[in-house]
Amino acid sequence: MNPARRVLVKLSENRWLREHGPHFRFVRAAASRFMPGENVDDALAAAASLKAAGITTLLTQLGENVTARSEAEGVVAHYLDLLERIRVANLPAEVSVKLTQLGLDLDREFCCSNLTKLIERSAALLPAAHHTLWIDIEQSAYVQATLEIYAQARKSYRNVGVAIQAYLYRSEKDIGALVAMGAAVRLVKGAYSEPPDIAFPDKKDVDENYFRLAQALLAHDARRNGVRAVLATHDRALIDRLIAWAAAQSMPRGELEFAMLYGIQRAEQSRLAREGYRSDVLISYGSFWFPWFMRRLAERPANVWFVVRNLFSS
Ligand SMILES: Cc1cc2nc3c(=O)[nH]c(=O)nc-3n(C[C@H](O)[C@H](O)[C@H](O)COP(=O)(O)OP(=O)(O)OC[C@H]3O[C@@H](n4cnc5c(N)ncnc54)[C@H](O)[C@@H]3O)c2cc1C
Repeated sequence: MNPARRVLVKLSENRWLREHGPHFRFVRAAASRFMPGENVDDALAAAASLKAAGITTLLTQLGENVTARSEAEGVVAHYLDLLERIRVANLPAEVSVKLTQLGLDLDREFCCSNLTKLIERSAALLPAAHHTLWIDIEQSAYVQATLEIYAQARKSYRNVGVAIQAYLYRSEKDIGALVAMGAAVRLVKGAYSEPPDIAFPDKKDVDENYFRLAQALLAHDARRNGVRAVLATHDRALIDRLIAWAAAQSMPRGELEFAMLYGIQRAEQSRLAREGYRSDVLISYGSFWFPWFMRRLAERPANVWFVVRNLFSS
């Protein structure tokens, strides 16, 4: 991993910075590039304007590693309310959650029952075209538990999806199992700092693995088995390569689904929607944004200059 990236991911885990970083005005100004605001109203307004451009959304309230059951219960109550607000506003939006936000560090059964409430409410309130409840994938220490919880949930519910990180060696095998289940999978490169014995250290190997895993998810048999593949990347070369490959398989454009983060590659998000591909944008909101923002800096260390510019202009 690029050393600048490693330092930024480490800083995202620093307790002092997590608490104090958000109080600096120039940091808040820089973070606003990646989120429409801290409130759910800001996120819903952004989702409505993306809808007008033919772009669907994924909504997530920032937060991870809750340390009290009451906190996790508050998160569940928030998402239950959010699902109702998505229904009322008639938005093509799905919800994405982190299991550590639902209490995975506290009690696995408690976390699973919280997840079940959200999956059931999503199915009950939202139209089948967009009622998947997504599970984010976190650091490698949580991957096994996340996939076990996913497999368990998938036995009872079809409207649940999970993210998979192309940087992990294990993901090839995990994708095989998910394809066999006919799962909904959001493929990402991976946002954390992982050691070379479990993750490809070189970016070009991650990119190549992403392409291979995407091919496995988009294969004719996988799609026939009900797999929904969401290709979450801003990598234009990779997107063009996947589009060319899918066209060579005579795959209809509407079956290719791409996802990006709010505020990144906006022109590309619109281009994909205009050209008939499914284009999703993940909108994050909430007050606990510091570690998430640092991971966004780590993905593109040049973003640090953006923070520095805000320091001098604030
Ligand atoms: C919808 C969505 C959901 C995600 N969910 C998860 C998850 O559950 N778990 C997880 O570990 N990771 C998740 N990620 C993050 C992901 O793992 C990567 O860290 C992130 O997407 C950057 O990788 P990339 O595929 O865009 O490719 P890269 O090769 O990193 O980037 C390609 C190009 O995109 C642009 N770009 C990428 N990131 C940024 C940025 N932050 N700021 C400005 N430009 C940028 C740059 O031009 C860069 O050259 C998610 C990403 C998306 C889009």
